[in-house]
Amino acid sequence: MTENLPVADFVLCPGRSASSAFSRPQARRAQANFQQKIMRGDRFACYHFAMSHTGDKQCFTAEVFIVHKDKVLLRMHDKYKIWLSVGGHIEPNEDPNQAALREVKEEVGLDVVLWDEGQKFTVNEGTFRNLVPPVGLNCHMSDTNEHVTLVYFATASADKVVPEKTSDEWRWVSKEELGSMDLRENVREYALGALKALGTSSS
Ligand SMILES: [Zn+2]
Repeated sequence: MTENLPVADFVLCPGRSASSAFSRPQARRAQANFQQKIMRGDRFACYHFAMSHTGDKQCFTAEVFIVHKDKVLLRMHDKYKIWLSVGGHIEPNEDPNQAALREVKEEVGLDVVLWDEGQKFTVNEGTFRNLVPPVGLNCHMSDTNEHVTLVYFATASADKVVPEKTSDEWRWVSKEELGSMDLRENVREYALGALKALGTSSS
């Protein structure tokens, strides 16, 4: 079934160009996901869809509310045009903490420390290691798929954002600004929670 389909023969979404739509790391992951789908015999695999979701119906994602001094970083979602945290899909072969740190580095170029106030267990031995637990866990629909999202709070020692794409919009937001911004209520609640937890300890 798959032998007639060369893996490099991408099926592009109408109106989208792989070279212009994706940054290089995204394009590499999209290519890997696309190839996996083709190898599994998915004849309807699409380059854009492969980039967007890691599962057929459900994906696991990590989101990070980053605090620097008394502001929290929000990023305009390039597709949905709403203010969200930084984050994205947890890829195969990475744990949620690694995914959170990778997404932050890719999307805004920051080195952050995940907040581990919730970790009650401390024994690490051999290959066993405790991970930083999320501060929140939610699920929601993201176009065709359900997203199960691990929410983290983190601190950044610097506020210089290096955006993934030149068209990206981001904003360091104060508690007062959060009160008046046009935000999804869950984003406002998490962002206020991050400032309450870390707002005075990150300066
Ligand atoms: Zn997804």
